[in-house]
Order: sequence, then C-alpha cells, then structure tokens
Amino acid sequence: MEQVLDLHLHSRFSRACSANLTLPNLERAGRRKGIDIIGTADFTHPQWFKEISEQLIEIGQSGLYRLAETTDSQIKFLLSTEVALIYKQGDKVRRLHLVIHAPNIEAVRQLNQELISRGLNLRSDGRPILGLTAPALVKICRQIDPQFIVYPAHIWTPWFSIFGSKSGFNKLEECFDEQTEFIYAYETGLSSDPPMNWRFSELDKLILLSNSDAHSLANLAREANVIDLPDLSYQSFCNILKNRDKQKIISTLEFFPEEGMYHLDGHRQCGFVCSPTKTKKIHGLCPHCRRPLTIGVLSRVEELADRPDGYRPDGAPNFEKLVELDKIIAESLGVKSRNSKKVQEIYEQMLQVFDNELAILRKVPLEEIDRQFGGLLAEAIRRMRQGQLTIEPGFDGQYGTIRLFNPAETRPITLF
Ligand SMILES: [Zn+2]
Ligand SMILES: [Zn+2]
Repeated sequence: MEQVLDLHLHSRFSRACSANLTLPNLERAGRRKGIDIIGTADFTHPQWFKEISEQLIEIGQSGLYRLAETTDSQIKFLLSTEVALIYKQGDKVRRLHLVIHAPNIEAVRQLNQELISRGLNLRSDGRPILGLTAPALVKICRQIDPQFIVYPAHIWTPWFSIFGSKSGFNKLEECFDEQTEFIYAYETGLSSDPPMNWRFSELDKLILLSNSDAHSLANLAREANVIDLPDLSYQSFCNILKNRDKQKIISTLEFFPEEGMYHLDGHRQCGFVCSPTKTKKIHGLCPHCRRPLTIGVLSRVEELADRPDGYRPDGAPNFEKLVELDKIIAESLGVKSRNSKKVQEIYEQMLQVFDNELAILRKVPLEEIDRQFGGLLAEAIRRMRQGQLTIEPGFDGQYGTIRLFNPAETRPITLF
C-alpha cells in the first residue's frame, strides 16, 4: 500500500520551533499536505511524551498510532525523535544528530527511563543533547527492543551530522563502530539530493530517507518518503529498512538541494558564497574576514565521493524534487511572503478543489490546474515538475532562493 511518510520533524518543545506544533495540528496539517504517516517528534521530552501517551492510541497492535479524538482516521503517527550527541572521540569533539524510531509507547517509556537514570537531561529541549557516543545510544535502544531504528540525520550538514565538515566522520564505521550493522538508513537532509548521495559508495548498503525536519506546520512534507508498505504497521516499515528492501521505496520527495541552507560554502555575515572549486583556490578562507568558511554539503560530498557526478547505483529508488505550493503561489502572484493573505486564500481554494498539497504538486493534471486556477499557476507547477527553475544557492545557514519565472517575463498582477 502506497504511503507517504514524513518521520523527522519537531514539536513545540524543541528549540526555535513553532508554538502551533501540537498533535491535533500535526494531524490536520499532515492531511492537508498529503502525508499518511507522520513522526510524533520529540518523544524523549517528558511533557510532549505525556501528550503522546494521552492523546494517541495504538491502531490494533500495529505500532502505529492515531489521535484518540479524531475526525480523520487516515493519518497515522509513528513514534520518532531526534537526539543530539556531543562527545569526544580521539582528540576531536563530535556533534551528531540521530533520528530514532520506536516500535511502541512502552519501548519509548523504557528508553526515556534509561536515559534519565544515566543522569541525562531530557527536559530542556525536545531534541535533547546527550553525552553518549553513537554506538552507546544504538546499543541502549537495541537492548530495550531490537525493533528500535536509529539512523544519522541530515548526514552532510556542517555542524551536527555524521559526515559534516565541522565535526563529522569519513566512514559509517568510524562513527558507529561495532553497531554499524544495525544502521539501516540515512537521511539526506535538505541540502543534498539522491544523486549527490549516490556518489558515495559507503551509502549503497543503506536505505536513503528524506524527511522534512519541519520546525513549523508549513514546512511539513517539504521532504518525505513514498513507500509501498505491505501492511500498515511499524513492523512492516522496520522490515523494509532492516532488509534494505529498496524496491519498496517508490520514491523520495526532495527539496531542490541548492535551496537548502548549507548547500554551498561561504560566510553569511560577510555575504560571501562560493563553489567547492573556488573554496579550494582560496584555501577555505573568507576573502573578507580571513576566517575559515563554513564548508557546505556539496564540498563535503565532493571530498568523500568515490564516484563521478551522474553515477546511479543499481536499484536506486526514484525521487521527485518539489517546491512548496505556497511558495509557488507567492511567486506566481509576485508576492514576497508565502504567508501573505492572498497567497493563503488561493492555497485554501486549491486544497478545497484538489484535496492535498502533494497531490497538486505531483499528480493533478496541469490542464485541471489551468482550468480552475489559471495558466500562470499551471505553468509554474509545470516548471517545478520539470526542474525548469533557477536557484540562488543557500550557504552558511541561509536558505537558497527559487525562481520559477524570469524577472523579464511579464505576468499579470492577479490571477483572477
Ligand atoms: Zn537535526
Ligand atoms: Zn567572512
């Protein structure tokens, strides 16, 4: 059964996250986006875990949950969280984010108790900082229940990732040691897409996953996974990962990686951005302030890649690059903010007609969009689907900017 899964996001208890991130709001936003299975986020946080325990009920014995009081039983929750690990290995400080999925609420309860008993602070942040090594964490999870899944989050981002330029490793095994065999997947992060990851043969044995890492409802599903689940259960998802069953991954939904905020190298404060080739020429130093540049995702991929650009491993699943619908509407209207009233009005009208955002971005025939919402929006979506757009790439924590229309193209002021 084809299901859309977005499994890494955050609750309102994580730092810099929207106050609207409640379970009922996540369910509603998930349905509007077109997600079928959504991560609970932040299950180590005591207060959020209390809400999870009180507001969600298990669907049969499936390990998937739904809101107890719901009007829409289509949306399932899968127990998920992200943790930050900071520890010293050799003479280097490692900073690493990992995604964890749990088979049921009881397993989460035991994991939380175990972490608290080790004196770790789960209370101060939905994404807690734990002074544990990566293999120690995997071991703790697996001792509680071997159906726990742990994998590295947004693997290339400079500051907190397994291969990041600031504190990362060069091999999976350097990080996970004797637990490496229990790592079944990795997350691409917004600033890299599948073709970039395919260049690193180290990743061939893992399942590539894409998740939104949303800190607000609007960003849900900006990356997601379309998976053919044999049945609607945690076990079914877990088996696909454990068996490295890539055929079950129908496709991943991707951000255009250039739009990600760590795609290229640079210094945000100095307003300086450059490509990996240029970075080498200037020895990684900012020409303005002479300090080391923040080395982005593309540079790290090029550094670790053992295959040429364009290489596609056998059996690699498909992917689709998308731009969020409110951004597309905003650009079509010539409006700066995706939150503007006019943009939101059209967004609502489109959802009423076509049901959910991913359907509009991926499936609704362009003629239908043209007929109901005008040629300009249809053309914008056509360009997005075909990748005919220009992007000013992101760097050093600054998102890239997508342009679907050339500034020279004339366009009407309003759609209607
Ligand atoms: Zn993270
Ligand atoms: Zn600088």
